[in-house]
Amino acid sequence: MKLIILGIQGSGKGTEGKLIAELYGLKHISTGDLLRKEVIEKTELGKEISSYIDKGNLVPDELINKIFLKNLPKDKFILDGYPRNLSQAEFLEKVNPVEKVIFLELPEQEVYHRLGLRVQCKKCGAIYGLNVKPKKEGICDKCQSILERRKDETPEAIKKRIDLFKKETLPLLKFYKSRVIRINGNQTVEAVFEDIKKLLQ
Ligand code: AMP
Repeated sequence: MKLIILGIQGSGKGTEGKLIAELYGLKHISTGDLLRKEVIEKTELGKEISSYIDKGNLVPDELINKIFLKNLPKDKFILDGYPRNLSQAEFLEKVNPVEKVIFLELPEQEVYHRLGLRVQCKKCGAIYGLNVKPKKEGICDKCQSILERRKDETPEAIKKRIDLFKKETLPLLKFYKSRVIRINGNQTVEAVFEDIKKLLQ
C-alpha cells in the first residue's frame, strides 16, 4: 500500500497518518517531522533550512527531494507533508507513484482555531493540540520537556503557510484525480479514522 495524506495545516494529517500507518503496517513519513528533527539537532542541514521553516516558506525542492528519497521505502508507506507542490508530485510519480491520496477537508476558520491550540516539545519535537493533549499541561508526555508554540505558528507564518497550501498544494487534487479520497476532517479523530478505513477498502 502506498498512500499520501493531504490536507491544510491542522487538518489532522499527522494524527490520522500515524493511525493508518499502525493499522496497515506502513512507514509514516512526515517531511515536516524530518526537517524539524534536523533543526532541533542543529545539523548543517538544520541550520540551512530553519529560516525557510520559521517564516512559513517551503524548503527548496532539491533539498527536500533528497531528504525525502533517503527515507522512502519501496512499498508500504504513507506520506504526510509531501508532495507539497506539482514539481514534487511529478518527482514522486517518477520514482515511486502512490495508489491513493487521502484528502482531509477542513473549513479555514477551524484551521486558525486548531493551530491556536497547538504546541511542540522543545526537545523531541512531539506535537500536541486539540485532539492530542499532554497528560500534564505544558509538559511533553514522551520526554518530560517543556512544550512551546512552534516557531512557524506566528500569525504571519500561519497565513503564509495557508496561502501556500492553497496556491501550491491544492492543485495536487487535479493531478491525482481519481486516486483522491475526500474525507470530512471536521470530526473527532475516531470518526475521521472510521471514514478513512471505510473508503480505503
Ligand atoms: P508541516 O509540519 O508539514 O506543516 O511542515 C512544516 C514546514 O516544513 C513547512 O512549512 C515547510 O517549511 C517545511 N516542509 C515540510 N514538508 C515540505 C515539503 N514537502 N516541501 C517543502 N517544504 C516542506
